[in-house]
Amino acid sequence: KGTMLVLRDVTKETEMDRLKSELVSTVSHELRTPLSSIYGFTELMLNRDIDLSKQDRYLKTIHSETERLANLVNDFLDVQRMESGTQSYQKRPLDLRPLLEETTQFYAASTTKHTITFRSFNETGPWIEADEEKMKQLMNNLLNNAVKYSPSGGTIEVVLTADQHHVQFTVRDEGIGIPKTALAKLFEKFYRVDNSDSRKIGGTGLGLAICKEIVEGHDGEILVDSVERKGSLFTVKLPQMVTSHSAVSEM
Ligand code: ADP
Repeated sequence: KGTMLVLRDVTKETEMDRLKSELVSTVSHELRTPLSSIYGFTELMLNRDIDLSKQDRYLKTIHSETERLANLVNDFLDVQRMESGTQSYQKRPLDLRPLLEETTQFYAASTTKHTITFRSFNETGPWIEADEEKMKQLMNNLLNNAVKYSPSGGTIEVVLTADQHHVQFTVRDEGIGIPKTALAKLFEKFYRVDNSDSRKIGGTGLGLAICKEIVEGHDGEILVDSVERKGSLFTVKLPQMVTSHSAVSEM
């Protein structure tokens, strides 16, 4: 028994050490770019002679880079909660379709390069028992990746389907795709495909690990299929909420 305990602790420590060193290298890579951009643009803004149109452009960059930093910090906090097992979910009945449709529309409006479409076979619902904020985070991570890893544009298709017991949504892109050998590791913390495309695009390798944690925290599963240089397909399956129609319409 004693030996088992020691072995477990050592494994945990090695994992923590690995996470720590991954964290340090990710932080130095991923924090430096937005920080130096914010620093540079605020310095330019301090020069009172710049014209208004430039000011506007600089402010927009400062704003989006600050947002990037905030997202980064939130991702780190999420991973820390995952590690310590303190991630909690505020689950409530949730109509998935409008949430997914709105999120898709938001991305469609924010890109001129991509065609982003949404399709659902249900008029209303399906309903799930879920934490709305976490569902938004899941959808955002998948859509953000679909855009980010499709540098030459193309179509991104979001499809929602449901049967009696399950709800499924897919995000398909025509981007750079993922090598077959990388698929098994894709949902691991800090894992990033090691090629020049991914290095150029940048990221922490935390988004999909967080997606997996959220989906599993809702008793669902997340799957990936991809062909390099053709595109990727992410599938999220969640249990449909068990309820009578009257219970839903009362809400
Ligand atoms: P990040 O994008 O910050 O690196 P993620 O955890 O979201 O981290 O994704 C992990 C890795 O999976 C990415 O680095 C990338 O190599 C690959 N990946 C994720 N989504 C896609 C996609 N839609 N197309 C191609 N590669 C992807």
